[in-house]
Amino acid sequence: MSCYKIPEGCCNEIESMLARFWWGSNARERKMHRLSWGRMGKAKNKGGLGFRGFSVFNKALLGKQCWRILSDNESLLSIVFKSRYFPRSDFMESKIGFQPSYAWRSLFNAKDVMELGSRWLIGDGQKVKIWKDNWLLEQGKFKVWSPVKNLPQDAPVSELIDRDTKNWNRTKVFNTFNLYEANQIINIPISWRLPEDKRIWHWERNGNYSVRSAYHAIQDENNRENPEASSMSDQRLWRAVWNMHVPNSTRNFLWRLARNILPTRGRLEQKGVNLDPICPLCFSETETTEHLFMRCPMVQQLWFISALGIHIPQHVSLAQWLQQWITSSDKVASHLFSITLWLIWKGRNQLIFNKTTFCPVSLANEISNFSAEFLIANTLKIKSVRVSELESWEQPNVGTTKINVDTGCFQNGTTGWGYLAQDHTGMVSFAATHLEKISISPLLAEAMALRWCLHQLL
Ligand SMILES: [Zn+2]
Repeated sequence: MSCYKIPEGCCNEIESMLARFWWGSNARERKMHRLSWGRMGKAKNKGGLGFRGFSVFNKALLGKQCWRILSDNESLLSIVFKSRYFPRSDFMESKIGFQPSYAWRSLFNAKDVMELGSRWLIGDGQKVKIWKDNWLLEQGKFKVWSPVKNLPQDAPVSELIDRDTKNWNRTKVFNTFNLYEANQIINIPISWRLPEDKRIWHWERNGNYSVRSAYHAIQDENNRENPEASSMSDQRLWRAVWNMHVPNSTRNFLWRLARNILPTRGRLEQKGVNLDPICPLCFSETETTEHLFMRCPMVQQLWFISALGIHIPQHVSLAQWLQQWITSSDKVASHLFSITLWLIWKGRNQLIFNKTTFCPVSLANEISNFSAEFLIANTLKIKSVRVSELESWEQPNVGTTKINVDTGCFQNGTTGWGYLAQDHTGMVSFAATHLEKISISPLLAEAMALRWCLHQLL
């Protein structure tokens, strides 16, 4: 699987088998699939269950071989494929060739994975072509879009670097690129050692290819082509569902409820199942999720006498109501709310399948007891706001100097820093400040400030 592309039909068959297993089908009986496998394969914070897509996973594994060919010219794999398929170009410019082997065909098909995350880390800029290679930091768009101007089409990035000051030639950068890209370029830090340029994998901190990050990059790209609305509030809801302080089975239930795939009678009737769709608790209306959890008179009694004492709001939909309670900052209330929903569903199932009665009073007691036992067994960790202690300056040893550095990243696109060098008595021996017209992360700013400070002092 990591060397050859598995045929699409075979991947689809394996995914169908997994889906049949998940929804409980067997040789004798076929169960209803209440959500497509594609949606279940979405990440948990996007409303899915995070199942790996077989074909995409295969591609991410093949991408690892492509990465080895790209990043290590000396490896046997790279030498063999280069001599056979791309003797006079590099891997990214290679063609499928005449009578290719299945292994080469597989890798060739996974070559586009490299475009999704492989980019250059600029050192001296000699190896990297400005308009051809991936080298900008913008996520998902590593190539320059500004039209070719002032410099030849295949000019290297080193043309934009001033080797004397070891910094970007700002005038040239702003004259050649549009303002947006020019700002991106000048914010790329340049090492004063001007080392060789290095190819890195953008989606990992250490710059090495990983199948996991490549899988997500391919999935994100596919989702961009077939977008499904997933707003920030949706993502908050999914995160809250999976982080809820309740048993795993309750989280799973909440996911199914929020996804609206619970097999209520109304929903089963919609899907063509021949049954009576009337609510089994009140026998007055069709059993939809909104009726069962909010509007049914029996359930409204339960919400009122439960520990939460809720009056069901009139003009709020179930989706809005769930969003409001599940993402509540009151962790105990959202825990009780979730347990109540879950036990309503269990109580309704026992009524249908075991012919028990649905009694709001005994169910309210059951909710309180279950919740109390769960909270005792699994102590609810509520994050307390830690008041940080004020750090006081500690003097250095006699005969040594202590340097303190601090930085500030400002909204007007500038970054500033300063340092203070003091001896053991607190006497200031050096102090300086500096302002750069760049906009970078606070962590990078700290590193650049330290480098600048040491350069000034040594
Ligand atoms: Zn009802």
